Amino acid sequence: MRLLVIEDDKDLNRQLVTALEQSGYAVDRAFDGEEGWFLGDTEPYDAVVLDIGLPKKDGISILEEWRRAGRIMPVLILTARDRWSDKVQGFDAGADDYVSKPFHMEEVLARLRALLRRATGHATNELSCGTVRLDTKSGRVVVAGAAVKLTSHEYRLLAYLMHHAGRVVSRSELVEHLYDQDYDRDSNTIEVFVGRLRRKLGVDVIQTVRGLGYLLDPGGEVAAK
Ligand code: CA
Repeated sequence: MRLLVIEDDKDLNRQLVTALEQSGYAVDRAFDGEEGWFLGDTEPYDAVVLDIGLPKKDGISILEEWRRAGRIMPVLILTARDRWSDKVQGFDAGADDYVSKPFHMEEVLARLRALLRRATGHATNELSCGTVRLDTKSGRVVVAGAAVKLTSHEYRLLAYLMHHAGRVVSRSELVEHLYDQDYDRDSNTIEVFVGRLRRKLGVDVIQTVRGLGYLLDPGGEVAAK
């Protein structure tokens, strides 16, 4: 999952990005409204953390423009304390949730998990496919009851596929949702990661759909290749 953080307070921006990266997300950042609006308008984010008070372009205007342009990614707004009108304006402009400053990072992380699972049609943090279980809160992956240790890239790949189980995900979609904009992207590496992930999981739940991409079959394990 790839997220965008738009926050002009440099310390807060860094804290958010660090916490999100540690939670297994690829994260892009912006420090003013224009840059943030542009990124959200051109890149396919799975969710956005958007401060309301920003230089160059305020959060409400950004949100209104994205929604008018048909950008439907979940947006969590950050509002100033005691500014109830920010929340009302924010929701009416198309926000999906809010957190008031100052906030506990755990709350932001929990709200984002909720937004991401709702956006992909899941009810809980625990995603499962056949004997594979992935807990988006703890970051734990278990196969047939045994814990499997994955690198952050492998985890990101599995988490994306599991959120989108039952639908074919193309390699280019994976590249766009697994790496931040500064990463040297190469769709050939996806194939390598999928290979490693299959070996580590030990069960073949990731199906290759020739010429289209990969499919996680929610009905269970599928035939090899
Ligand atoms: Ca601000």
